[in-house]
Amino acid sequence: MELEFIRRLRERLPPRQGDLLVGPGDDAAVLAWRSGGNCVVTTDMLTDGVDFRLSEADPRRIGRKALAVNLSDLAAMAAVPVAVVVSLALPRTASLELAWELYEGLLPLAVEFDTYVAGGDTNAWDGGLVINVTAIGRTTERGPLLRSGARPGDAIVVTGDFGGSILGKHFDFTPRVREALYLGANYEVRAAMDVSDGLSLDLGRMCEESGCGAELTLSSIPISAAAREAALRNPQSDTPLERALSDGEDFELLLAMPLEEASRAAADTSLGVGLSIIGRFVAERGLYAIDAAGNRTPLTPRGYEHRFGP
Ligand SMILES: [Mg+2]
Repeated sequence: MELEFIRRLRERLPPRQGDLLVGPGDDAAVLAWRSGGNCVVTTDMLTDGVDFRLSEADPRRIGRKALAVNLSDLAAMAAVPVAVVVSLALPRTASLELAWELYEGLLPLAVEFDTYVAGGDTNAWDGGLVINVTAIGRTTERGPLLRSGARPGDAIVVTGDFGGSILGKHFDFTPRVREALYLGANYEVRAAMDVSDGLSLDLGRMCEESGCGAELTLSSIPISAAAREAALRNPQSDTPLERALSDGEDFELLLAMPLEEASRAAADTSLGVGLSIIGRFVAERGLYAIDAAGNRTPLTPRGYEHRFGP
């Protein structure tokens, strides 16, 4: 990384304390890891044209998102964020100012979630902007939350509401770190993940890992105002419910909890975000929808999937 850039970054970063012993500027970062718990590592790469369009978006929002998606994955594991490293591949046509703007979006969120930028790498190349963040967290006494713990009879629980994130939430969402830690510490949570690719698709993935199926009560799905607005733009093919079930990038938590625990948590006002019980896990494999009349029909999981190969 260019020396002048590192100097500027060091000036901008909060003073080092806690677990970060050596930050940006040396060959590698050093973390003390005094606080116990296991080390949780996650990484997410955002690319121009797939996760954002640099020609249309404020680079600060892109930088913020690159960190937020990683914090969301730490939240899904009920891990406390500790440090992040940031790798940038800038288009050769862009100035180093672009890197700075990305950091200007990312740094306030790092401060908000009490996590350090421990280092990174900034390069230029002939392709579009690529931003990769790797986040390091630690588990609490509760241990990590996994996707594989859902059991038949457990309630399907979600934070917040769903659909239409393309209208803004996919940039400006709040990673549910505090909520996941709070729920993990105060309630019995059997499984968790963050919904990044679509509610029904990700629920299918949790079922797969847990070896069970799920019944969704359609009238209980929290549909966002953005999902209604997005559906209005294409009323022939879209309904708000369909958008809530299949749109990607909600970055809400999806949890499996014993029903009694879920009911207690849903009434807990200190959580700070709405919690909805949207169905239950069942022994029979597959996803099923329960409509207002009580009819049960198979539900095809839909959402965003990266395409590979020719
Ligand atoms: Mg995830």
